[in-house]
Amino acid sequence: MTDCGCDKAKKDLEEYLHHELLANEAADIREHIANCASCADEERVGVVLIEAVQRACRETAPEELRLQVLTKIRQLQTHA
Ligand SMILES: [Zn+2]
Repeated sequence: MTDCGCDKAKKDLEEYLHHELLANEAADIREHIANCASCADEERVGVVLIEAVQRACRETAPEELRLQVLTKIRQLQTHA
């Protein structure tokens, strides 16, 4: 197995985390991360970010968010 290197690992990390890479490419990245502390850190940060975004999407539906913003704007206008 050849180590794909930090440049490639970091470039492909986002696609890797979203499971958008081909199986053999993902295996290269996974192998690199297993042997590279720096890329392993980046992977952890990426995973946390993705989970945070997914949680935010689940908890706040776009329509709900829109209403919250509209309500806020109306409050501001009332007090102006
Ligand atoms: Zn690396």
